[in-house]
Parts: sequence; C-alpha cells; structure tokens
Amino acid sequence: MTTFIPRTPRLSKSRFLSGQQCDKRLYFEVYAPEFATKIDAQRQAMLNMGKQIGDTAQLCFPGGELVTEGYRQSAAALEKTAALMADPEIPAIFEAAFQFEDTMIRVDILERSGEQSWRLIEVKASSRVKAVHHADLSVQAYVLQGCGIPISNICLMHMNRHYVFQGGDVDLRQLFMVEDLTEDVRPRLTEIPNRLAQLREMLTRETAPEIEPDGHCHSPYECPFWEHCTKDKSDRWIFHLPGTKEVVRRMRKQGIEHIDDIPSRVKLSMLQQRMKDNVEWCSPELQQVLESVQYPVHHLDFETFMPAIPLYPRTRPYQPIPTQWSNHIESEDLNLRHEKFLYTDPRDPREELAVALISSLGTEGSICVYSDYEKYVLTALAEALPALRAELLQITHRLWDLLAVIQNHYYHPGFSGSFSIKSVLPTLVPSLSYQNLDIQNGATASGTYHHMVFQETDWVERQRLETALEEYCALDTLGMVELRRVLSEKAQPIPEG
Ligand code: SF4
Repeated sequence: MTTFIPRTPRLSKSRFLSGQQCDKRLYFEVYAPEFATKIDAQRQAMLNMGKQIGDTAQLCFPGGELVTEGYRQSAAALEKTAALMADPEIPAIFEAAFQFEDTMIRVDILERSGEQSWRLIEVKASSRVKAVHHADLSVQAYVLQGCGIPISNICLMHMNRHYVFQGGDVDLRQLFMVEDLTEDVRPRLTEIPNRLAQLREMLTRETAPEIEPDGHCHSPYECPFWEHCTKDKSDRWIFHLPGTKEVVRRMRKQGIEHIDDIPSRVKLSMLQQRMKDNVEWCSPELQQVLESVQYPVHHLDFETFMPAIPLYPRTRPYQPIPTQWSNHIESEDLNLRHEKFLYTDPRDPREELAVALISSLGTEGSICVYSDYEKYVLTALAEALPALRAELLQITHRLWDLLAVIQNHYYHPGFSGSFSIKSVLPTLVPSLSYQNLDIQNGATASGTYHHMVFQETDWVERQRLETALEEYCALDTLGMVELRRVLSEKAQPIPEG
C-alpha cells in the first residue's frame, strides 16, 4: 500500500465535487495525480467545448468583466474580484474568486441583481439540470455566504436543446436557459461544512481510503483513476458482466467477484449467460441470415460532429451533422470497390454529402451498417433536405444491420460481452486493427473534423487530418465486409432439402 505525507491542502469546488463522487478520487487528485489516465483527444474536445460554451455564455452579460488571473494566482484573483465588486458600474463578473475557510471557488458568472445583492450563475454544457449541479451550486453558495456576499438567486445556465438556429447571429437568449434553483439549493447549505470537514480529515491520512471500484466510478463523471483502481482486476471480474448492473450488485453483496463463480441458479440475460459460458457460439440460422443480403452489398458508415453552438441554419445545439461517409461495395463475384466522401469546407455539408451518397448507393442492393445510427442520420437528412427526402427515405428500407445479426447469432469470448465493432473486429479479423490508426474512435473523429475545418490553418496538417479521417471511416466499412466473410466461414451450412 502506498503511503503519502499528509498536508492540509486547500479545497476547491472541483475537489469538493470529486470528493462527493469518491473520497479516494479526491485523495488521488491531491496526492497522486500521476495515477490518472492522461486526458485523451475525446476528453480534450469536451473540455474545449465547455470552454467555448462558457465564453459564449458571458456574451449574455454585456459590460461584464473577466477576472483573468489564473488558478495559480489566487491572491491576485481575490483582489481583482473585490475591486470589480466595489465598482457599481460593473454589472457582472466572470470567474470571480472567493475563499472561505480554506475553500476556494471561481464563480462562472456573478451578476449584480440590486444595489446590495448578486445572482450566482453556474454555466453548464448539459441541456438539463442534474443532481450534481445542486452540489456544485451548494458549495459555491456556501463560500459566498461565508464571505458575506448577499445572494438573491442561485441559478444554473444550461444549453437549450430545442433552440433552432435561423442563421445570422445566434440568439443567445434562446441558446441558453437559466433555471433558478435557489429554493432547491439553500436548504443544502447546512450540509456543506460537515462534508468539507470530513474531506479535510480524510486528506490528513497517510493512505488512500479503501474503496472498491464500482458503478460510482462512472457517475456523475468518469473517474480518471479507473484504470489505476482496476489494474489488478481480471477480464472475468464481475463488473465486466454486460447489461443491467443489478445482477452485479447482488453478486458482489454475496462476495462473488468473478463471472465464473456466479452460481448456475442465478438468472442471467442471454448475453450475460454467453459471457459466463465463455465459449464461441453460432446460431443454426446464421448462414441463412447472412445469405439474406442482396448484391451489390454496400457497407456504409457515417461520421458526424455535434456542434454545441449551432453553425448551420435550421440546426439545434448538439445536433449530429454528417460530414463524411465511406461505402465499400461488394459485387456478387466478390469484387470490392470503395467510394468515400469528406466535406472539408466550413459550410453546411449536408446537401452535397447527401447527393453524393444517393449516387454512390444507387437503387440496388443491401446496405450493410453497424447499428441503427445510419438510419437515424438518413432520417434526419431526409427531414432537413425536402428535395431529397424521398430518395433518402427509400435508402433506409435497404439497410441491413450487421450488429443485430451478430448480437442474435454469434458470440466469441474475445468480445468480453461487448458487440462494439471495436471489440468484434479485432477478435474476428485481427489483421484489421484500429490500433495503427491516428484516429481510433468516433468521438476523436468528430473532434478532429472540427479542428481540421475550423481551426487548422496549415494545409499540410489539414491534409494529414483529412487522410486520418478517411482511413478511420474506411476501416469501419472494410471491417464490415471482412466480418461478413469470417462469419460466413463460421456459419454452419444450411441442411439440404
Ligand atoms: S476509480 Fe472509482 S474507486 Fe477509484 S478513485 Fe475513481 S471513483 Fe474512486
């Protein structure tokens, strides 16, 4: 067990929230941040998006002043905040700094709501109020109260998913919703000092609290110490059992930590049972289902990105916008042809993308996809493009979902209970791996697209990113071709007669 030299570190809002999720998480953040998994491209994209939303929210408060002093310049930030509050001409302060009993906070927006009072506003990228937001606002309101700042309202400002951008300037008053949570938050303030005291006491210990990883590690946030805390767990750890975690909870209560130790009397779902059996399985119907495809077989995959702040007319916050597709076309004599589309212009990609897609898919053959996401994207495209609506909806009738085929007709222990193509493809077609690609998942592809089109100015780098995006999307569709082939080899022949 690792021991640490205890200190009395200052708490902050984010440390308080970490402690609310798990004492051990807070302990590691203070004493062993090197145990955390490095921030990946997906997480970085989320952080960038949060920053963009925060900056945009500030535009709703004209005349507001930003406390530019950073998190390591606490004294200067406190001083600047005090100076801005003393100036009655300043209607709002962004990133205002306060400290009470060694707990430091930065308030997203502190708006003057009268001569003697202020409105506390926390900005969130989410589109609704969540339980964790109450805790977030509670600790901020507690510190402000401790500092003697009169607070008239405690509010959450979040994105309005129903706002439809009409073009021109974004309507900031519609883009955001402000919910007054004063009545919900105030009663919680009495709980804060005790909880802060508990966290401080916990941080005086020489060793981290003994807390087993569990469902709490993923909610309300993904804990960055998950890999560290689970590094000694086997692949057959009970937590890896797919589906509802109710069975997992019951089994752990009985001290069962391994899938192999689940008693046979325990009722499991079909997938959980397959994972427990841990053997390759093929349904007798697999061959027949695989042969239901019509040639030429198209293999289609979209990549999308979801701008938090809408970029194109008649789109909403976080609406998925398709930017790219790949289509591997297999003819009846098994010849393979690849067609692709990637929009590299900052304008709305949807019409050009759809026209090229309709041409590539033609009117014949099945369209093999992996999940129902492509159907969702096609339907949304049909709604957005009335002139192409009929053709796009027609295409949805030709979709053939390979994911559903595998889920219902095949299992391999290498899947470890997951049917994601990222688990299935390396198991069945080891020669096709995402590991060698610059982009290895859809979220990174989305972030890469945004960076390439809206930020990158170096044309050489843009070309590199373009190639990386094309390679990623192409692997998804080539993967489906190969999966169909491997599954055909594994399927039992259909009995004659
Ligand atoms: S992974 Fe889980 S147990 Fe480990 S520190 Fe994070 S929340 Fe706590």
